[in-house]
Amino acid sequence: MAPQGPQAPLEFGGPLGAAAMLLLLPATMFHLLLAARSEPARLLGPPPDLPGLAALWSPRALLLLLTWLGLQAALYLLPARKVAEGLELKDKSRLRYPINGFQALVLTALLVGLGVSVGLPLGALSEMLLPLAFAATLSTFFFSLLLYIKAQVAPASALAPGGNSGNPIYDFFLGRELNPRIGSFDFKYFCELRPGLIGWVLINLALLLQETELRGSPSLAMGLVNGFQLLYVGDALWHEEAVLTTMDITHDGFGFMLVFGDLAWVPFTYSLQAQFLLHHPQPLGWPMASVICLINAAGYYIFRGANSQKNTFRKNPSDPSVAGLETIPTATGRRLLVSGWWGMVRHPNYLGDLIMALAWSLPCGVSHLLPYFYLLYFTVLLVHREARDERQCLQKYGRAWHEYCQRVPYRILPYVY
Ligand code: NDP
Repeated sequence: MAPQGPQAPLEFGGPLGAAAMLLLLPATMFHLLLAARSEPARLLGPPPDLPGLAALWSPRALLLLLTWLGLQAALYLLPARKVAEGLELKDKSRLRYPINGFQALVLTALLVGLGVSVGLPLGALSEMLLPLAFAATLSTFFFSLLLYIKAQVAPASALAPGGNSGNPIYDFFLGRELNPRIGSFDFKYFCELRPGLIGWVLINLALLLQETELRGSPSLAMGLVNGFQLLYVGDALWHEEAVLTTMDITHDGFGFMLVFGDLAWVPFTYSLQAQFLLHHPQPLGWPMASVICLINAAGYYIFRGANSQKNTFRKNPSDPSVAGLETIPTATGRRLLVSGWWGMVRHPNYLGDLIMALAWSLPCGVSHLLPYFYLLYFTVLLVHREARDERQCLQKYGRAWHEYCQRVPYRILPYVY
């Protein structure tokens, strides 16, 4: 397969940056897992005890992980309430995707509820996080390698705009094929929202059950973290179709970056607050809890309002809820919203997401920086993502994008950034 050649702009610092990320991402994840259970719970500095291979490698954990992936794959294959079409591809075709992610969440909840009611020791999962994360890391390296090999025989039209530089490390990291599939089973779409996201809330629940076993009842802080993050995951799966227009699906190849992100990083680092709370209980009264709930509600309101407004507008610009909004025409025939949420800042959805990230950390108190890792990392991720999206929008819309930037000068936070 012909590489894209030197004209394709390299992202993430090119091959060196990609090589660094291959090491840094798993190392950071293990550092966080170890720090959360350690007494000082330091975000910076080495964790107190580095585990040996015996503490990391467990065939049982690998089996559990594969069973989980198998269960989610089986739920993915169940009849869907709707089959949606993705955006038009290079070869003018459109792929079809089952919309049954929320159904998978509900069925998983029923199965887990049934299991717990007959004595399944779900809380024990919290003691297996280290070997599970290790199994997930090994599996994601292996899976990314298979995807890299599969891309060798993919037609040029199936390759992603990035990830085909000809440098194996860079391409392995970014991903070569845009939508790798076997039959109608779409690996990227499956991994984006199911095993990792549902796995995240399952780990949270296991930590809550373990806390209940240890201390007699779940703490308010743990309850809030579980509730907020369940709302976020439920929302993502309820609006599953919206993922079809995201950069991950339409632009990025499926390589280590997304595979590791979806299957290891999300479940094991996004559950960091709940992990921290299990080992470092925090007092939280109802007045402070109410303030935190309000912050989460405000973040969710902005996040959902902005995402729904854009999705509705992209699907049907004459929908009554968006028809009255001011827009800018572009040479592609598509228009850009310049009032409503998208007239406030250029990424109002990111702002809402960051406000929620703050609300997820606050129940952990202010004695440690560790539970604020998600907020810090997410800020970096969204600022970087926003810059990538700006570049792509400038390419797509040219002068119209310049005009949009003039009319809406702030990117994420009004009057600040
Ligand atoms: P966005 O939903 O922000 O989509 C960006 C696209 O929207 C642009 O490429 C453009 O595409 C369109 N657009 C931009 N400005 C306008 C406008 N003014 N009017 C109309 N369309 C416009 O992209 P993401 O995929 O980054 O984010 C989706 C959601 O997922 C966000 O809420 C984000 O916070 C969240 N997210 C969460 C992550 C997590 O780990 N928790 C990780 C990443 C994202 P076009 O014109 O082609 O339609």
